[in-house]
Amino acid sequence: FTAELDALRGLPSETTDGYSLPLYLNTGLVSEQRPAGSDEAAGVGLYRTELPFLVRDRFPGEGAQYSNYRRILEVFAPRTVTIRTLDIGGDKPLSYFPIEESNPFLGWRGIRVALDHPQIFMTQVRAMLSASVGLDNLQLLLPMITTIDELEEAQHMIARAHEELIDEGHEVCMPPVGAMIEVPAAVYQAENLAGRVDFLSVGTNDLTQYLLAVDRNNPRVAGLYDDLHPAVLWALTTVVAGARAHGKEVSVCGELAGDPLGAALLLGAGVHSLSMSAASLLRVKGVIRSLSRGRARELLNDSLRCDTGAAVRKLLTGALEDIG
Ligand code: PEP
Ligand code: MG
Repeated sequence: FTAELDALRGLPSETTDGYSLPLYLNTGLVSEQRPAGSDEAAGVGLYRTELPFLVRDRFPGEGAQYSNYRRILEVFAPRTVTIRTLDIGGDKPLSYFPIEESNPFLGWRGIRVALDHPQIFMTQVRAMLSASVGLDNLQLLLPMITTIDELEEAQHMIARAHEELIDEGHEVCMPPVGAMIEVPAAVYQAENLAGRVDFLSVGTNDLTQYLLAVDRNNPRVAGLYDDLHPAVLWALTTVVAGARAHGKEVSVCGELAGDPLGAALLLGAGVHSLSMSAASLLRVKGVIRSLSRGRARELLNDSLRCDTGAAVRKLLTGALEDIG
């Protein structure tokens, strides 16, 4: 089985009818000089920036952040690296920045914290923009966007950071900026959001938690958490349609993208790329290479008609076993 996966190394992530679905890497949560999977991936689809903030006893400064972002951009250049701005709060608390709330997942997290503390956000964005000088393979991703106002405010600050650096004499380019779709409100406004950004990236971990009202880390309700639930799949089709209306690309960077069953459906839904942990890359590639786009579309349509996540799982498991 491992030998079968090994044989996929270096082969393109392409369907049987020649459609290419690039596979990117999720990284950042462990510190590595060269992340595992860096040869196999088309680039980094999600670089989570929380680690240097979590392991220190205070906010890292612009210089420390710069070195970190520069390293990951250099390892992958010329391939693109999508770096997400700080997503603290919720399940990612900082010891030196206590947030006391009874509902952390519905509280102060992600972009909300950043917009309330412009200096934290500006420092981070300045470090990212400077790190991409001469490489120009950076994409910037904003977590937990719920309203158009939040997006516009963040974009305004990014433009200001860019101007500041130019005024200081640095030759920084303005990178493509994308919004994460991980809140139900953003699903229903995907089209409005897509009109204002360069790309969308769906975070199915949070999206599933918020659609099904199931805390993603609470073992008591873990049985109710299911990212193959038809409600999640319908949300995905809405996001893809919204992005398509503006000719924008959609990536998926939640765990669903690294699940071979999920990847088959995402191919069918017409997403443009998938991003996953290194351990999933080859398995997902195997599934993509075993399907035609038309077959993946059929699987998605059949799944959308299912009543439950269990029914979707059963349908897909059967279909993919038939393929081999
Ligand atoms: C997600 O919510 O799906 C996601 C990719 O972000 P994180 O898991 O870091 O919240
Ligand atoms: Mg998330």
